[in-house]
Amino acid sequence: MPTLPTVFLGHGSPMNAIEDNVFHQAWQTLGQLLPRPRAILCVSAHWETIGVQIGGALKPETIHDFGGFPQALFDVQYPASGSHWLTERAAQILARHYPSIDQKRGLDHGAWGVLTALYPKADIPVVQLSLDMSRPASEHFKLGQALRPLRDEGVLILASGNIVHNLRAADFRDPRPVDWAIRFIDQAKGLIEAGDYERLADLASLGPDAALAINSAEHYLPLLYTLGASDKGETIRFITDETVAAIAMTGLIIGE
Ligand code: ZN
Repeated sequence: MPTLPTVFLGHGSPMNAIEDNVFHQAWQTLGQLLPRPRAILCVSAHWETIGVQIGGALKPETIHDFGGFPQALFDVQYPASGSHWLTERAAQILARHYPSIDQKRGLDHGAWGVLTALYPKADIPVVQLSLDMSRPASEHFKLGQALRPLRDEGVLILASGNIVHNLRAADFRDPRPVDWAIRFIDQAKGLIEAGDYERLADLASLGPDAALAINSAEHYLPLLYTLGASDKGETIRFITDETVAAIAMTGLIIGE
């Protein structure tokens, strides 16, 4: 079984799930290029918990966890099955972090919003891993490191968030990127390319632009799982890289 790459996608607006735009198209292309995974472990910005939780539903429902969007978006169903094997395997790998299994949790739009483009047939099982918001960023990086063996077992570790995400600090009627968003995404990309992942997991060291870019952290933290689950020296490729107001749509694949 080939070792799967690990992927972080900037998901942005939920409408990217159904719009035929550059982001949706890039995700479609990526899905066609990736070796077919046995299952997908998805870390999304939209499942925040206290304590590590792992989805255990065998038929996870499609959660429409947003408001104010067209009916077409609420009509989307992503009927991928869960994976008892992957739920149990992830729980085993993360045992010393005391995970619990949520048998009812469905797939949030951070997951299905990109999966509809990556795997439109929904024929690969998906298990979500929550973001334990009681932990500092450095521990999210360590959780990513702990998940690394799954890549050798045919699992695609797919993280979905946004490296820059601040809905309050910009006027989204104007899509031009704000100065601090550009500065931070350039800083983050530089650190990614330099392999300085520990620094990216030390939010206090990143300066004032980071404080604006990562104001509530949940969209940034998934990146640390992708970086944690990678090996030093693996190839890194940015597959999307555009900043809209104060949302960076940057996405990357490591270990192609
Ligand atoms: Zn989001």
